[in-house]
Amino acid sequence: MIELRSDTFTLPTEKMLQAMVKTPLGDDVYGEDPTINQLEEQVAEMFNKEAACFLPSGTMANLTSILAHCPRGSKVLVGNESDIFIYEAGGASVCGGVIYEPIPTQSDGRLLLEDLEKVFDFDPEDPQFALPSLICLENTHNRCGGRVLPFEYLNSVRRFANERSLPIHMDGARIFNASVALKCPVSEIAKYADSIQFCLSKGLSAPIGSMVVGSRKFIKDVRRWRKLLGGGMRQAGVLAAAGIISVNNMVDRLEEDHKRARQFAEGLLLITGIELDLKQVETNIVFFRVTDPQFTPEKFIEKLKANGIAIETLGHGRIRAVFHRGVTGKEVDEVLDVIQKIMDK
Ligand SMILES: *Cc1c(COP(=O)(O)O)cnc(C)c1O
Repeated sequence: MIELRSDTFTLPTEKMLQAMVKTPLGDDVYGEDPTINQLEEQVAEMFNKEAACFLPSGTMANLTSILAHCPRGSKVLVGNESDIFIYEAGGASVCGGVIYEPIPTQSDGRLLLEDLEKVFDFDPEDPQFALPSLICLENTHNRCGGRVLPFEYLNSVRRFANERSLPIHMDGARIFNASVALKCPVSEIAKYADSIQFCLSKGLSAPIGSMVVGSRKFIKDVRRWRKLLGGGMRQAGVLAAAGIISVNNMVDRLEEDHKRARQFAEGLLLITGIELDLKQVETNIVFFRVTDPQFTPEKFIEKLKANGIAIETLGHGRIRAVFHRGVTGKEVDEVLDVIQKIMDK
């Protein structure tokens, strides 16, 4: 099977599996797992933040971050196309009494300042209103096709947030895809956010895990929420051992995934009955539509599956292909050939 549904399908490397067997372990709820401690210290340094915390998933990383930033009864400003708003089961409102305020998302993943501004059209002394307590950004933006937020934009949101004394949390599940696309250290992006979460388990190929970075005080609160949610793990160093290899050895190769995505998108452009916008392809994700009337998206996906290719829709009638370590350049050509044949019939 050629797996294009998600970069979460990446399997751990041989080196990761070996490191998992040999790494020194302890009880991380006591703060005594040396491998976890090493990963957390290293990641904090990479992002140029005071501290970091290892968590089982990106969902829990976002949830603990929101709970640590937002008092009960306050509002978190989230994109209406964001993972936090759409795919995370409403955790912050269920667990923390936090209200999600959905903000329209531009096609490149930005939330316009004028749309954020509308949330502040009230008298903060009037007890009728819930107070905004956090802005969340997503980078790269999944449902916008892996788009990278530009520095100029990050700078403008940072200024906006500072003027209103609001923190910024960045859902950077694929933040290293952004740093590789921008050819900059990840700390250059991190400086615009108070906290960032990223996934070790996507393109970086670790089997499990996400990290949150931020101030020492903030990370202390994240740890409390992590424990409350059942995410305090014992010899979790077996997972962190893979995570250390992710951040040390798996970042630069994301460039290859971006090349494959580009190769795929350029190939698709030549096939009649398929529509896509090449300038939207900035990282490892390609969105396209099947415009040939003989296919519904479901029928198209079924045909690919019969040819050994797994792919899925991702909202608004679009099909999403995600490129990762498990897909070679030769396989990209194979997929293009299959699609060409299907469309020719
Ligand atoms: C995958 C993803 C998450 C959630 O991560 P899980 O580890 O699957 O819980 C959050 N945000 C974005 C943008 C993602 O792509």
